Amino acid sequence: MAGEPQADCLFCKIVAGDVPATIVHETATTVAFRDINPQAPTHVLVIPRAHYPDAATLAAAEPAVAADVLSAAAEVAAQEKADSTGYRIVFNTGAGAGQTVFHAHAHVLGGRGLNWPPG
Ligand code: AMP
Ligand code: ZN
Repeated sequence: MAGEPQADCLFCKIVAGDVPATIVHETATTVAFRDINPQAPTHVLVIPRAHYPDAATLAAAEPAVAADVLSAAAEVAAQEKADSTGYRIVFNTGAGAGQTVFHAHAHVLGGRGLNWPPG
């Protein structure tokens, strides 16, 4: 069924507590944890508890949860004090865009200057 945990999904395992992560924010529908390979002083991943392979499928199936991910990303940025200097919310979608984990996630990046356009 859409949204159900997937046995072979790393981020479903983090949601279940079966893989450790440094969790910095949680809601009923989302979990946020520090990226294991940070690309900026603040680099937090915000994920829905439900499994969808990317942001587009999440938004199509559960738009309210997609909105929860954005709200959580904003709360994480404020909690990390990245909101005063600017931050970026990124959803890599598809392998060609650098997506490596196929459970929807927002990268929240901040704490340093961020170039535009990104690579
Ligand atoms: P993406 O390449 O957009 O799919 O992002 C996946 C992100 O997950 C990468 O930035 C990885 O560094 C990060 N990552 C992979 N494994 C873990 C883990 N066990 N805990 C935290 N972050 C992870
Ligand atoms: Zn998953």
